Order: sequence, then structure tokens, then C-alpha cells
Amino acid sequence: MSQEWNIRSRGHVCTICQKPLVDKTPVVSALKETADGYERFDCHPECWKVQERDWTPFSQWDGVYLAPVKEVRQEPLKKEDAGELLRQLVTLDDPAMKNVVYVLAVMLERSKILVERDAKEQEDGTIRRVYEDRKQGDTFVILDPRLRLENLSEVQQQVVALLSGEVATEEEQPSADNETQPETT
Ligand SMILES: [Zn+2]
Repeated sequence: MSQEWNIRSRGHVCTICQKPLVDKTPVVSALKETADGYERFDCHPECWKVQERDWTPFSQWDGVYLAPVKEVRQEPLKKEDAGELLRQLVTLDDPAMKNVVYVLAVMLERSKILVERDAKEQEDGTIRRVYEDRKQGDTFVILDPRLRLENLSEVQQQVVALLSGEVATEEEQPSADNETQPETT
């Protein structure tokens, strides 16, 4: 599998019976590993209980479904920026940014923006952690690269620099265009 992390949005209807999830009621969420990432399930607990499955969830947790609200968000701007940055970085899927992505996720967890739902140790000793956005319910599968403590402050400085806009986060041009053409003789 090539992807090291992934975002999956919370569903608003039950994945199994396709009926709407009800605001502030329990929901069972699960991630199923697929060839190209993860498939997410959000289900009524009773639907999940009776569904016959021939697969084991990569991750599974109990939550509470919250309907989307249109109210004005009152988070401090800084946290909004951090969450938005995480989204951008996860979407970019750049292995070179894996340390930054992980440290940012931990910072968001400490700020109570994200909650850790699960952690799965991989054969290579790294850990894939499943974080869920408390408000929006989106899931982030993030690789914990097992950073050494002495590298942590360096990465934190990178994150702070990104948040303050010192480093451009725009997507880079695909490098394929820069390849030199083979010379014809
Ligand atoms: Zn259902």
C-alpha cells in the first residue's frame, strides 16, 4: 500500500441501512483497509451489530453523531489555521512531510481539536494512528514515525513556521515536467 495516511469524512447516513444518522445519538465508526486506502463505515450501533462481515476492521470506535451546524465558528483563529494546515498536508500526501504531519496532529490533539481513536503498530515498528476531528468528524489516518525526542523541537519549529506562513505550502509542480528529454541523434 502506497498511502501512509488518509482522510475519510464522517458519513451522514448509516453505511449499512442508508437511513440518516440522528443528531447526538451513538454511532459506530470503522475503517476497512482496501487496496487504495480505507473505506469508512458510520453506522447505527444496531445495524453494525447485526451485519455479517467477512472482514476485520482496521479500526473501530464508538462515537456520537453530531449533525453539521451552520453557526459561526468561535475557535481561536490559530486552531482553525492548524486544522486547515493539517488537511492541506494530508491531502498533499508527501512522505517528506510525515514528521510535520504527525507533530501537527499531536498538537491538534492537545488543543482538543482531534481525538485519537485508535493506534495500530505496523510490522516496521511505525504506528498508524487514527484521529477524528471532534466537531466535523473527519478521520485522519496518520503515520507515527516514532520521532526521537531530540528531533521533536526541530519539527515543532517547522510546524510553527508553516503556521506563521514563513514557508509556502502550495503544491509543487510535478517534477515529471522537468525531466530532460532524451537526446536524439
Ligand atoms: Zn442503520
